[in-house]
Amino acid sequence: METIFAKSVPGRLGVVPPKPAKSAADMLPAMLLRRSPPALPELSELDVVRHYSQLSRLNYGVDTNFYPLGSCTMKYNPKFTEKVAALEGFAATHPLLAHIPGGEKYVAGNLEAILLTEKLLREITGMAAFTLQPMAGAQGELTGILLIAAYHRRKGNHKTKIICPDSAHGTNPASAALAGYEVVNIRSKDGLVDPDALAAVLDDSVAGLMMTCPNTLGLFEKHLPEIVKLLRAADALLYYDGANFNACMGRLRVGDVGFDVVHLNLHKTMATPHGGGGPGSGPVGVSERLEPFLPGPRVVENSDGSVGLKHDLPLSIGRVAPFYGNFAVCLKALAYMLRCGGNGLARASDYAVLNANYMRARLRGLLEIPYDRTCMHEFVCSADSLGKYGVHALDLAKALLEKGFHAPTIYFPLIVKECLMIEPTETESKETLDAFCDALEELVKTAESNPAALLDAPRNLPVRRLDETAAARGMILTD
Ligand SMILES: *Cc1c(COP(=O)(O)O)cnc(C)c1O
Repeated sequence: METIFAKSVPGRLGVVPPKPAKSAADMLPAMLLRRSPPALPELSELDVVRHYSQLSRLNYGVDTNFYPLGSCTMKYNPKFTEKVAALEGFAATHPLLAHIPGGEKYVAGNLEAILLTEKLLREITGMAAFTLQPMAGAQGELTGILLIAAYHRRKGNHKTKIICPDSAHGTNPASAALAGYEVVNIRSKDGLVDPDALAAVLDDSVAGLMMTCPNTLGLFEKHLPEIVKLLRAADALLYYDGANFNACMGRLRVGDVGFDVVHLNLHKTMATPHGGGGPGSGPVGVSERLEPFLPGPRVVENSDGSVGLKHDLPLSIGRVAPFYGNFAVCLKALAYMLRCGGNGLARASDYAVLNANYMRARLRGLLEIPYDRTCMHEFVCSADSLGKYGVHALDLAKALLEKGFHAPTIYFPLIVKECLMIEPTETESKETLDAFCDALEELVKTAESNPAALLDAPRNLPVRRLDETAAARGMILTD
């Protein structure tokens, strides 16, 4: 499609802006004035409206169709939460107002919203305290690992390693490495963390374990109590990657199980969909022994009932984000939690799990499901059996686009060959799930009868197959 600049016709006009009372030359020093007019496109209003309407139709999103992107949780984005986040009292407040002397009272409502969000997250997870600062899941992980490091440093422990199972999300080992730890990988057994493999690598040098649960196979780690016991004995801390807590809300409190740190992805579990590059929010919850190290300043309730910021936190790891993190995403989560209520949140998780299991049962027999047992919010199947026709997971994904569906996540987790990771989310209807399964069924049949038809897909979209290496390594960002 042509850019709006290419459509420009000299002299064509959409709107006539009002003449300013004073000219720029009256208000600005000469050195700041433009020497030539800006090269803005010249179009009629209709040209502009059509251009952007057509562009918007090239987008694919949760508002247009099903988006079963495993691990990314592209759930329906309730519109009422957007309204809440856009309320003027929230959206128009200056983020530094609470930092000027006496300014706290002007943003008391915002600070109370932060306190209430933290309180509800504590209740849902069973943790002692929360910070809302981290602005993504991975940033929450880094924050959590820095908290673990601060704890050990304070205790005088010399610990150098973090254990990450092979079924962990890829950001886990990356976060541990970024925090300066050596990452020890352990192999899963039957899709789960194997307590024996864990015991074999546990010693005094281990600072902690990072556990993705449900793991990247969509399976619940059923050995949690044993694992907690092992780690405690080694004075190692337990990190729970709760990015996908949309599988467990109201059914599991990780604090009660004995975990020291958890991060949640509000942009997966609570109203805001993941993907599209943000904005996100990855709050971190901690057990009592880690609370003194939380990022500051912290929002607190004073003894007279007013709310304010506490800066005097001698053991804090310091700020991990400007202001309060992504406040608007937290507001959406707060609105979502209040609207759903405890039972509603539990029901959301129940439906997420039910939908995933329904699809798993429907696709069984069509594609191999390597860990074919009750899954949580997502499951993994393998297109390996289509290799004999020259068809791969990538081809199924591209052909699904042609049929109007977003592709599932492919080639992740790495421990399953030719993997497709499907996450329907709780918000999709049975009709939608069936339509997707029907489409996939048709494609698998095509793979068997006419594989060439898949290798060429997608044929009906503005962009066909990209040179993915060049797209990443040889980007052309200007034309
Ligand atoms: C999505 C995800 C993350 C990373 O979250 P981001 O917000 O993308 O940084 C970490 N762990 C798990 C299990 C995830 O699904």
